[in-house]
Amino acid sequence: MREYKHLLLANKAWAAERLEERPDYFERQIAGQQPEFLWIGCSDSRVAAGQLTNTPPGGMFIHRNVANLVNEDDLNLMSVLEYAVTVLKVRHIIICGHHGCGGINAALEGGATGYLGKWLRNAEQVRRDHQEELDALPESQRANRLVELNVRDQLVRLARTSVVQDAFAAGQTLYLHGWVYDLRDGLIKPMMEIDSTTPLGEVPRPQPVLV
Ligand SMILES: [Zn+2]
Repeated sequence: MREYKHLLLANKAWAAERLEERPDYFERQIAGQQPEFLWIGCSDSRVAAGQLTNTPPGGMFIHRNVANLVNEDDLNLMSVLEYAVTVLKVRHIIICGHHGCGGINAALEGGATGYLGKWLRNAEQVRRDHQEELDALPESQRANRLVELNVRDQLVRLARTSVVQDAFAAGQTLYLHGWVYDLRDGLIKPMMEIDSTTPLGEVPRPQPVLV
């Protein structure tokens, strides 16, 4: 494990490298941000949005929580979403789940307690809503499929929020993307897309990609 002092040393080296590449690097950072993307992903330390997509600072507005869930009563997520869509005017919102998600595994097994137990109720609802499909799969494939179905259901929830609906109604350019990150090969696998023309009552279940 890295000691905390290594973080500070690494930061100094990083800042020096930026200045070497571009003497005005930090002046440009101070000038403001114009990210094109909002990333909603899992808090898992292995799913580092910027690094996985080679996006430099300033390129992506980011919200992360356990199991990449969307709840309209989550003030944290909703304020990030509102700011990203109405002020920054991001053009793409990505919900990215991932292979080996501990939150999804817990939702599949049930019985999580404490704050995590409360938080995961949304994911457990996804499991219940797709119980038949999950039960028909071999046990070894259920977690991966729930990761995919969870992204689908959270993306539909996101599309139904007032923030996204208002943007669609106003003709703002906005695309919602459902992706999963595969820890086994480091690749992001796109599954689905929603835009202002998508009938939300008929969004199909995505083809499995975490096979
Ligand atoms: Zn996770």
